[in-house]
Amino acid sequence: MLRDELSKEEILGIARKIIHEGPICNHCLGRQFAKISSGVSNEIRGEIVRELLTGAVQDGKCWLCNGLFAELDRWAEAALKKLNSYEYDSFLVGTKLSGLLMANEELMWELTGAIFAEPLKAELNREVGKRIERATGKRVDFEKPDIVVILNLWNDDIELDVKPVFIYGRYLKYRRGIPQTRWYCRECRGKGCARCNFTGKMYAESVEELIKASIVDEFGAEDMILHGCGREDIDARMLGSGRPFVVELKEPRRRHVDLQALEAKVNTANSGKLAVTSLQYVGRDMVARIKNAKAKKTYRVVVELRRHANKEALIDAVTKLSGAMIEQRTPVRVVHRRADLIRRRRIYELKLLAYSGNTCELELKCDGGLYVKELISGDSGRTSPSFSDTLGVEAEVKELDVMDVEL
Ligand SMILES: [Zn+2]
Ligand SMILES: [Zn+2]
Repeated sequence: MLRDELSKEEILGIARKIIHEGPICNHCLGRQFAKISSGVSNEIRGEIVRELLTGAVQDGKCWLCNGLFAELDRWAEAALKKLNSYEYDSFLVGTKLSGLLMANEELMWELTGAIFAEPLKAELNREVGKRIERATGKRVDFEKPDIVVILNLWNDDIELDVKPVFIYGRYLKYRRGIPQTRWYCRECRGKGCARCNFTGKMYAESVEELIKASIVDEFGAEDMILHGCGREDIDARMLGSGRPFVVELKEPRRRHVDLQALEAKVNTANSGKLAVTSLQYVGRDMVARIKNAKAKKTYRVVVELRRHANKEALIDAVTKLSGAMIEQRTPVRVVHRRADLIRRRRIYELKLLAYSGNTCELELKCDGGLYVKELISGDSGRTSPSFSDTLGVEAEVKELDVMDVEL
């Protein structure tokens, strides 16, 4: 039966048993009765119990915590020293208990029944946390701390788990031939070889690397990852309102950077190549939101026709495809890295913007995930209906720009 209180005699009985085992500090004595009363610290509670046991004066190191609670200030100072290099608003203290202390705890729980006890970790985390709060004015946050301070009792050291900073924005890519993220060299897989000119990469630069170069130092971060809301082809520009993304800055030393100034810095450094807009701080959940978003896309497509088609035929084909559901088997050019299956994607609107001779320019609004190059060419019948089949003229994408990504 679970009880929520003990008589004074019972408390003293348990306390005598504990003290009988050897010297014990007030923190460790008090926390055995932590759940009986609140409003005082375990240290004070231990002192009160000890006074009730007249004559229980003890010398020596506490056998239970091995003197840990006599060193709270030392632990707090060591933590503060490490925290000093970081900007943060909130923190949390955690403990990795050593084997010896774990064994001692278990011994104690057998002795006392442990129903009213608070674990050593909880007391240690709180006491060191209080000291850091007092010294810095920062607050303990159990839900989303900026930094977790880990007291590692195995190696008598402090570790910091610095949470990433997340920034949402949209990017525009003005130049073709730039992938969204770094592509490792197919030949050497990143090690560096003659084929990649010893860069380890297929392309000299990527949207991710260009943004990273301008912002990683501003945050004093160790690394940066770009999470895009889908990705355009390497040879497609990203125009219009831009593509939503979230950057994740790893182990940042600063987390309050002026984003307007940062935006200007990125855009000046990448003038004519890349720009970012709408930067704002967000939570980690935004990464999943933009990754899973089924965003509609608008494209501008320049199409090359195998032979001349007249205006009426072009308008007829565009009208037939506007609003159509497209069945698309995984394109030949990506089937080596994607599952071979049939996707159904809708075209919301297809418009003829211009035409001359053997080229025409289209505006296409469709579901995300539609392969545009194959919609135009038909991919040897793997995409149906296609622009090529509908028009009755072989057609191919010559230029592709993404104009809008709806989020
Ligand atoms: Zn102790
Ligand atoms: Zn290589």
